Amino acid sequence: MPEPYRGFASKVVPLHAENVDTDQVVPARYLKITDKAGLADVLFRDWRFNEDGSLKDPPFVLDQPGMAGRNILLVGDNFGTGSSREHAPWALAAWGIRAVISTGYADIFRNNALKNGVLPIAVDPETHAHLFALIDDDPESELRIDLAEQGILLPDGTTVEFDVDTFAKLMLLRGTDEGLGVRPAGTGGHPARFRPFRRVTTGAQIDRYPAAVGGSPEDLNFVLRVLRRRAESPDCVSLVFARPRGLAYQAGDWVDVRFLPAELAVGRTFSFSSAPTEPDVWITYRRGLSPFKRALDQAAPGDTLLITQHGSNGFLRRPRTPALLIAGGVGIAPFRSMIRDAVARGDQAEITLIHVNRTEDAPFRKELAGLAARQPWLKVHHLATVDDGRLTLNRLRHLAPDIGESRACVYIAGPPAMVASTERVIKALGVASDRVLTDSFTGY
Ligand SMILES: Cc1cc2nc3c(=O)[nH]c(=O)nc-3n(C[C@H](O)[C@H](O)[C@H](O)COP(=O)(O)OP(=O)(O)OC[C@H]3O[C@@H](n4cnc5c(N)ncnc54)[C@H](O)[C@@H]3O)c2cc1C
Repeated sequence: MPEPYRGFASKVVPLHAENVDTDQVVPARYLKITDKAGLADVLFRDWRFNEDGSLKDPPFVLDQPGMAGRNILLVGDNFGTGSSREHAPWALAAWGIRAVISTGYADIFRNNALKNGVLPIAVDPETHAHLFALIDDDPESELRIDLAEQGILLPDGTTVEFDVDTFAKLMLLRGTDEGLGVRPAGTGGHPARFRPFRRVTTGAQIDRYPAAVGGSPEDLNFVLRVLRRRAESPDCVSLVFARPRGLAYQAGDWVDVRFLPAELAVGRTFSFSSAPTEPDVWITYRRGLSPFKRALDQAAPGDTLLITQHGSNGFLRRPRTPALLIAGGVGIAPFRSMIRDAVARGDQAEITLIHVNRTEDAPFRKELAGLAARQPWLKVHHLATVDDGRLTLNRLRHLAPDIGESRACVYIAGPPAMVASTERVIKALGVASDRVLTDSFTGY
């Protein structure tokens, strides 16, 4: 399932080619590849590489200096013709392209792209020519794409509006490919509690963006300065940041961060693992091999990252209401925030936390045990799947015996597969949908 599609700013890859068909995007001999991430290397393969695998000389536009990390492809008329190939948007997305701008698209490509989180934007020929002139003139120009507002913000502050099918737009914004009958990830069946995402960066601010790096961050993007790193477990690390002035959030909220400067232009979404009542801001990530995770691993005290957006998907603790919190691995992050928040606010409604982790040394284990020893309303259980500690129906019956009949809300956070299977088990125990809230960490 694609991640929710959020607004972003990026420099542009200009590809002066018309009627590009899907066989040029991904040559037919690569259609057997099913690992989507691996498709970045075969994008425009025959235009980029010689038969012996060496780069063409001069290099194709994607391989020219400064192009890596750009998320917008500006291309000639009539893009994506030819046979239906879902591999085409997969490869574009794997390389990092999140929006294509052309005067038109083959219908099948447009639909495949929308399903895979790549936004195909059609503009009129005059705007198209203007955009090419702009980028050819200054290849460093940045555009901001805002799907919610259906606009492209140009460096001179003008906006180009574009059309997008309403259904596709909602699916992209919600990060679902399952249709609108299905509730968006993370709302836990509480559409009424859905509070709109807070967009920190607005179009008008983009020109002033560089000022955020050294200037006053509070009315621009929030700049995060790393104070320290904490190893929470063998595979989870917290980054602790100085709290920027003016940053307000609630326990359970998410934050989009990216690096400064923007060499890794695509950011990632994290839950705040700190409580809003704490002086610093924390995120906790599971270590990985992606370039973004490797960069996070390198982040050292004094380095800066940027918050581009933050908000809520309705995963908020109901005050003074008993809660069963179920975390899978790094899904513990929003629960650390909620528990610390409850302690600070003196909310003593009962909390039972079940943390399912691959190994015994789960993130925050010691800290949470310490809190549970001092707070009679907090119970913490750990299950290590490596020892077959999976959360089965019987185990849940044992750990939360009266959950079906109680008025407690159940919160589930972690990788999507864990969230989905746990939700099924919880509902099998008779917990009504309006008492189940989920926070699915799409991307795992
Ligand atoms: C609301 C929300 C809250 C979230 N909160 C958190 C949180 O608190 N903590 C957290 O850690 N995550 C959180 N996530 C998930 C996070 O946004 C990322 O999607 C996730 O961390 C995966 O990012 P990645 O860079 O490791 O993998 P991606 O680059 O997105 O890659 C996808 C997969 O491919 C693998 N992969 C990528 N590149 C390579 C490579 N070169 N070699 C081998 N494998 C590779 C990755 O390991 C991953 O499994 C949240 C997501 C959402 C939507």
